[in-house]
Amino acid sequence: QLSSISLYHASPIPMTSLQLTAKKVAVVGGGAAGLVAARELRNEGHKVVVFEREAQLGGTWVYSPEVESDPLGLDPNRKIVHSSLYSSLRTNLPREVMGFRDFPFVASGKAGRDSRRFPGHEEVLRYLEDFGNEFRLHELVRYQTEVCHVGLEAEGKWKVKSRTKAENDGSEFVETYDAVVVCNGHYTEPRIADIPGIEVWPGRQIHSHNYRIPEPYRDQVIVLIGSSASAVDICRDLSRFAKEVHVASRSKPDGSYGKQPGFDNLWLHPMIERAHEDGNVTFQDGSVVRAEVILHCTGYKYHFPFLHNIDAANVDDNRVGPLYKHVFPPALAPGISFVGLPWKVVPFILCELQSRWIASILSGRISLPSEEKMMEDIKSFYSTLDAAGVPKRYTHNIGDHQFEYDDWLALETGSPLIEDWRRGMYRATSLCRRAQPETYRDEWDDEDWILTAYQDFKQYLP
Ligand code: FAD
Repeated sequence: QLSSISLYHASPIPMTSLQLTAKKVAVVGGGAAGLVAARELRNEGHKVVVFEREAQLGGTWVYSPEVESDPLGLDPNRKIVHSSLYSSLRTNLPREVMGFRDFPFVASGKAGRDSRRFPGHEEVLRYLEDFGNEFRLHELVRYQTEVCHVGLEAEGKWKVKSRTKAENDGSEFVETYDAVVVCNGHYTEPRIADIPGIEVWPGRQIHSHNYRIPEPYRDQVIVLIGSSASAVDICRDLSRFAKEVHVASRSKPDGSYGKQPGFDNLWLHPMIERAHEDGNVTFQDGSVVRAEVILHCTGYKYHFPFLHNIDAANVDDNRVGPLYKHVFPPALAPGISFVGLPWKVVPFILCELQSRWIASILSGRISLPSEEKMMEDIKSFYSTLDAAGVPKRYTHNIGDHQFEYDDWLALETGSPLIEDWRRGMYRATSLCRRAQPETYRDEWDDEDWILTAYQDFKQYLP
């Protein structure tokens, strides 16, 4: 364990003899992506304003016990609760892998902090707060200020309309920026499973976005749809209180269906075939349960309610675009860009590299290909997905080649490539999680990678 992280001095990209341009940049969102975008943009000399709807930084990692008025999250007029965290959540990546490159996520050794390798969610928030403090990012942030409109003005400038929270005074501001970097997160707008017969089924439905604790489900029979990391955690969390938990999953090998080893109230089924008026739910293997709750752990949709009439932000079957390398819409680049869209990835380091790329392009240190060349690249990427039979909605799922993507960004920006230990540890964790889903957070066998990581961290820690 290493002692506390203390003063760290940023090392901006080395200056060249190029004449760099400082831009006035609006960053939408103060989660992990917005924080690192702000740091990279400022390091490059830009003037940055971060707009954050909430009263604090951290985005997803700001847990709230509050849930939305519509438990399925479909009502467009519902009060939005941003975070989808459940109370018991521990990270599904080891802290070493999760951290930003030059600000390692090590146990701080401070009282009250969580020193576990896969810590609880509060520890991630503390880490992001440490990051914000270390780089004095708070001074760039307008808290409780929501961006409600971003639009293109004459001469490539961007109009940003924002509004402070009504309880403050609800003031509206209209300003002009040279560029807008969108970092608004993509785990807030639920995606719901299509279930035949659901309109007559009498039970309660919720989306995992509005799941917090298992106690309210005591003695109930629950059908949970999904097989993501959240589904795996939540079904186990629920099984401590519910009478029965039946998981409906599309992507499990045949032999794994049935009662789950180590549990007396947890079953795995294939997908739901139909829900019925009498409360029954039928699965594709013919099994039937009488359920009181259907819990959709079915993921989220990209959502940019503040981007009006901007072609770049078209979301078509959860593909945002067209975007060059998941970041720049060719027709509007580099004035508007998106950080953190890829999923099934290690997000912080990816956001760090994307942000550095954006900052360097805005300053003129490096340049983008022509609009035509970027469109060609996108078309060829889409063709590769089509040829491999990848559905459109998986466009930004780059899990299998995330490190190649990171390395591409690193090469573009003259940054070091992804560390071998980070790749190795990520793969070791994925295998371990699959083999021992109950215990991977507390038992592992990648000690060699841990040693190498901590060796590497010495250059960044006091
Ligand atoms: P967010 O953290 O969502 O931040 C977006 C910010 O934008 C928010 O603060 C929001 O208030 C603000 N905002 C939105 N709209 C506006 C607006 N119009 N105006 C102003 N502000 C706005 N990652 C890991 O590395 N390890 C894990 O173990 C892990 N577990 C996860 C578990 C769950 C349940 C979820 C949902 C995600 C998990 N992640 C994990 C991924 C996580 O989302 C990323 O780690 C990271 O927090 C994403 O940061 P972000 O800044 O892109 O988005």
